[in-house]
Amino acid sequence: MSEPGSFPLPFDVCHRAVDERDPCFDGVFFVAIVTTRIYCRPTCPSRRANPGHRRFFGSAAEAERAGFRACRRCRPELAPGSDEMDAVSRLARVAARRICAGALNGGRSVADLAAELGVSERHLRRALRREIGASPVELAQAHRLLQARRLLADTALPVIEIAFASGFESLRRFNVAFRQRYGMSPSALRRSRGDDLHA
Ligand SMILES: [Zn+2]
Repeated sequence: MSEPGSFPLPFDVCHRAVDERDPCFDGVFFVAIVTTRIYCRPTCPSRRANPGHRRFFGSAAEAERAGFRACRRCRPELAPGSDEMDAVSRLARVAARRICAGALNGGRSVADLAAELGVSERHLRRALRREIGASPVELAQAHRLLQARRLLADTALPVIEIAFASGFESLRRFNVAFRQRYGMSPSALRRSRGDDLHA
């Protein structure tokens, strides 16, 4: 467990994970809200607090020690990484990490991932649905899109390279998925960001 003051992640990474409810950070850190004195998982479905009201902790225990109460909605005290976590949560966490690391990219299937983890595909799907509220493919796609959006904002890489680096199998699929999710093309999003930066 990290000591107070040795929090391992840059705060901008944490803020972004909270803003995007990125499931890859579930159990990695916890976000506490100074106004309500409640702490949550980064993926909590509740309305997100103003960034200025957030504090970050490396464990649920640290948040409790600092006087915060567990959110009843996302139950952070049961988050992956806590001692109370059950086998299903553990499986969901490991699977989510693998998926975010690209386990379903390059034509690899959910059945392959289930076999690697030593469980049935059905069990894996149910665990992810219960813990994250998404199917393995939905999680993989959400993560690819988040990754792509970060690369568009943070790098000058050509769009086609971003598509492949994010795990898409073709530029066409990337464009379709991106437009569905964000309502604009990748290059339009980059232009709008660029305008912000140079305004
Ligand atoms: Zn919560």
